[in-house]
Amino acid sequence: MMTTDSPGLYIHIPFCASKCPYCDFYSLKADEETKDRYTHAIIKNIILKQEQHGISFPTVYFGGGTPSLLGSKRLVEILRKINKSTDCEVTVECNPSDLCENWTPDDMLALADAGANRISMGMQSAIDNERKKLGRRAGKKEVAKAVELVKNAGIDNFSLDLMLGIPFQTTDTIRESIEFCAESGAKHVSSYLLKIEQGTPFEKVEKLLDLPDEDECCDMYLAACECLEEHGYKQYEISNFSVPGYESRHNLIYWDCREYLGIGASAHSFFDGKRFFYERDINAFIDGAKPIDDGEGGSFEEYAMLRLRLADGLKNDSVKARFGFEIPAEMLEKSRLFEKNGLTVTDGKNISLTPKGFLVSNSITASLLS
Ligand code: SF4
Repeated sequence: MMTTDSPGLYIHIPFCASKCPYCDFYSLKADEETKDRYTHAIIKNIILKQEQHGISFPTVYFGGGTPSLLGSKRLVEILRKINKSTDCEVTVECNPSDLCENWTPDDMLALADAGANRISMGMQSAIDNERKKLGRRAGKKEVAKAVELVKNAGIDNFSLDLMLGIPFQTTDTIRESIEFCAESGAKHVSSYLLKIEQGTPFEKVEKLLDLPDEDECCDMYLAACECLEEHGYKQYEISNFSVPGYESRHNLIYWDCREYLGIGASAHSFFDGKRFFYERDINAFIDGAKPIDDGEGGSFEEYAMLRLRLADGLKNDSVKARFGFEIPAEMLEKSRLFEKNGLTVTDGKNISLTPKGFLVSNSITASLLS
């Protein structure tokens, strides 16, 4: 079933200064001319969609890659062309090294003036040797400097990424990184476990990385959840924590299985009940390639899978309103069995996963839906 809200807008900026050894996102180096051509292709697509559908976007999210590498001028140019609804949340992902090396206070002020009101920064760790091992150029000092640049432009809603299960990390250093987040005033923390992706440099040297084993990773995740709560960050999704009221409204659209338009090479969309995506090829995107069909979206299974990522879980009233039926009794029964092991919480009507359950969320969700 489709939702009737206006869709969120995701804009993919596939440029990075260099490739981090663990990353398999679509990103590459680009010269200034390519960035200009890509910017114009993005604007052309946005204008077309706005004209076709008369949309005012409630959220805009520049993700990547490294959107800050596009530079303030091009980001502002794009932002000025977007129909934004009142109170639109506009997030820009930024790389701390890039902000320190290439952005002036005026650049950040111009971005804020064009509507950016949320910055998400790829910190990964506040410990220098951990960051270095991840291929990050900036140290803690530069991250702090980038945070100041954002705050001085009047943007107090910013998020820091924290990676768990990385080389050299311990629960003590995780605590240190979380303390840094809290002291810097971050309103949001995204905390992900490192996953070794196929074909990445980390995959080739995995054995030499001295990575924590699975049990240690679970301990790290649970310790991070606890420490983040202690510092006022409430868990609202498997990997996302915020000061109450500062949850990412754009990402909540995904987890609530609502619609969004993705513009840019490799960007995915769920719009008008259909899923589709652009291929991972910037030249094809610049040359006007059409997105590729990816079937229907928004089934109950998909909705349940996404909602169970949220601490709020799967709510019977919302299921009824959206699909016209209640959460199936078998699902509730199975959830009661998981509850005995501390993996889910069920009050007879609604289902949610606990932090311990989030660690095995894929198998719990598969079992609940089987
Ligand atoms: S900066 Fe982000 S998108 Fe770019 S290579 Fe590193 S992890 Fe991947």
